[in-house]
Amino acid sequence: MGSRVVIVGAGQAGFQVAVSLRADGFDGLIALIGDERGLPYQRPPLSKTVLAGKQHIDSVAFRPERFYQDQRIELMPGEKVAGIDRASRQVFLAAGSRLPYDTLVLATGARVRTLPMDGILYLRDREHAVELKQRLDAAANVVVIGGGFIGLEVAAVARESGKTVCVTEVQSRLMARAVAPVLSDFYREAHRGVGVRFALDAAVTNVSDGEVTLGDGSTLPADLVVAGIGVVPNTELTVEAGLPTGDGILVDDHLRTADEHIFAIGDCADHPNVFAGGRARIESVQNAVDQAKCVAAQIVGKSAPYSAVPWFWTDQFDLKLQMCGLSSRADRVVTRGTMESRKFSLFYFRDRRLLAVDSMNRPADHMVGRKLLAAGTSLTPEQAEDESVDLKSLLTSAN
Ligand code: FAD
Repeated sequence: MGSRVVIVGAGQAGFQVAVSLRADGFDGLIALIGDERGLPYQRPPLSKTVLAGKQHIDSVAFRPERFYQDQRIELMPGEKVAGIDRASRQVFLAAGSRLPYDTLVLATGARVRTLPMDGILYLRDREHAVELKQRLDAAANVVVIGGGFIGLEVAAVARESGKTVCVTEVQSRLMARAVAPVLSDFYREAHRGVGVRFALDAAVTNVSDGEVTLGDGSTLPADLVVAGIGVVPNTELTVEAGLPTGDGILVDDHLRTADEHIFAIGDCADHPNVFAGGRARIESVQNAVDQAKCVAAQIVGKSAPYSAVPWFWTDQFDLKLQMCGLSSRADRVVTRGTMESRKFSLFYFRDRRLLAVDSMNRPADHMVGRKLLAAGTSLTPEQAEDESVDLKSLLTSAN
């Protein structure tokens, strides 16, 4: 694989490739190029502890500057890669210079989807988070456009800070892409219980000074409007380089693009995923980290297809939801524990095969769920909902 690895994008996935390469004994050059300024950082706290004022923005960096020097990782912040010359194996920097590579890793992530209206804030990067926090502190009436994970995390923090909060959502239920209807309803009631209001099946048609207008003509007072309506993968470099894209940069089960010298990982990668039963593009820390580890291993000669169990979490109020597997193809959902206790897990099945587990304030179920999925251990819906069945014992008995 040669001795020069160039990584484009210094987010969760790009950072992890660099770290894992050194941990795996790679001794060559590692260039980590990112168009954001400052040290690489984690995004999850931006909509949680940072927005709530419980964590300072400077503490979200993965590692201090010295780490990169010690590890001989050539960190190039504030540099945008403008193009790839596949024939000569070089990348062009927007600033004008060129950098040769033996292996190129694209970890370009995704950018926020925007609405064609002014006066809306978004949350993807450190600068967005600083501005949103300032505006939130000064706001009284907050409208959140989008009832997905990020929108609901922002709504929870805003409500806990004493703001009036309304969430608008074009679909009829919350987090519809990712969870069962029963969990959408649970979240709606949990938010409502502390005073968050919802406008479901509602499109925003106008945002003006102090007001948001919905499709039915009704208006909501708003001195802060923030949207979390999904992201668009950053695929431009590969499109221009003539590499195929689907819902992201197309890669094979080893995360390699159509060019054998170029990998793509993280939020930007459309990859075959055994848990999806087909191709998927997954936006999560787990996916970014595990795909980075998989590519680093291949660069040092340990070839294995990508096969990690997907997992994710969201924190809203005192509700910690941990999810593993991918539930969208489920034909049956059973509950372990009671929703009233706010400690329960949903087990998703298809043809009686376990697909996914969503655990609410039940971390032990989450950990077992990940192991069951990884091992492919059989679990019936009846066992899953029967609290007298020790799920951990199934793991050992299968071994
Ligand atoms: P990114 O982190 O987006 O990094 C890509 C980087 O590449 C960016 O810095 C981008 O600017 C840079 N880049 C793009 N093009 C170029 C170029 N041409 N040249 C140079 N640089 C370039 N996931 C969870 O699992 N749990 C959570 O609770 C959670 N909470 C989140 C909260 C927020 C507010 C956000 C925004 C995300 C959250 N996520 C969460 C998702 C998770 O952070 C992402 O899935 C993860 O960051 C993806 O990593 P990545 O490296 O693929 O992409």
